Amino acid sequence: MKVYLETEHLFLRPLTPADAEAVFLWGSDPEVNKYMIYPLYHDVADVRAWLESRNPDDPDVYDEGIVLKSTGELIGSGGLTWHPERNAWEIGYNLRRDQWGHGYTGEMIQALMAHIQKTRPVEAIDGVFASENTKSRRVMEKLGMEYMRDTEFTKTDGSQTFPAMYYRRNLHQPASVCLICDRIDKIQQHLNPYFVRELETGYVVIGDHQRFEGYTLLLCKEHATELSQLAPKFRQAFLRDMAMTAEAVENAFHPDKINYELLGNGKGRHMHWHIFPRRAGDTPLPGPVWQVDDMYAGQNIPTLEKLNELRERVGAELDRLMK
Ligand SMILES: [Zn+2]
Repeated sequence: MKVYLETEHLFLRPLTPADAEAVFLWGSDPEVNKYMIYPLYHDVADVRAWLESRNPDDPDVYDEGIVLKSTGELIGSGGLTWHPERNAWEIGYNLRRDQWGHGYTGEMIQALMAHIQKTRPVEAIDGVFASENTKSRRVMEKLGMEYMRDTEFTKTDGSQTFPAMYYRRNLHQPASVCLICDRIDKIQQHLNPYFVRELETGYVVIGDHQRFEGYTLLLCKEHATELSQLAPKFRQAFLRDMAMTAEAVENAFHPDKINYELLGNGKGRHMHWHIFPRRAGDTPLPGPVWQVDDMYAGQNIPTLEKLNELRERVGAELDRLMK
């Protein structure tokens, strides 16, 4: 997409074939190209051909020219590309070697994220870089991204394969995009009467409907769809917090069995645990809770007095388990 943006040190603008000479300065630099997926340029005519082949109106590709305000020079290019299969925007960039180390890449990505968010949700940003490329690792960490897993990539000409690292940051979403993020906002503003306790990775809340007495939820602090989208340490802690929430419900209500269910909600499918205390005969047929047709009946909305009692019972058990 064509973008015109100004940041503290930079202008971002579309690249055109007239930029070929400037792009060639970094496109032909073996140091800049070392960990890039595409091969080194040896001829400025190839750069021009590449620039002419691009579709500047592709809505899923924000790959902009980076101009240094103080000199007016084009010093690099980069941006974000939409990956629907991961529900994420992947970052990519090239910067002329004499401009490294000033934080320009992070400045460019932040500005583009803010720009894209005006018209589309940015639920996560991803980055893949060669493991030995510590400069890119620092860029990712400054953007708040976390290590997810090891991977690898091969240059498009097949000349080299690099061990690589996959980094990600899941982003909080506006209320209009995600019901779970909206509820978390309300908790933070002390406006959610169902809120019980904040844990390291999530918020414990009492279920809106109490068809199954003691029904409790754990809302993940990260706006993410799958466990695989959580950084390993956070994922471990999230599973531990889920087990602790369930144990608190178990201690508070002494059911015959707990049901644990990790569901998503809305367009972003923000994951959250449903913890259902179950008792023999509490559904017409043995099986999951969703068979009942009175789950959302008005009579199952707890009174404020009942809600406070449930919050206290679960909260007291959580306090005990967290000691
Ligand atoms: Zn969300």
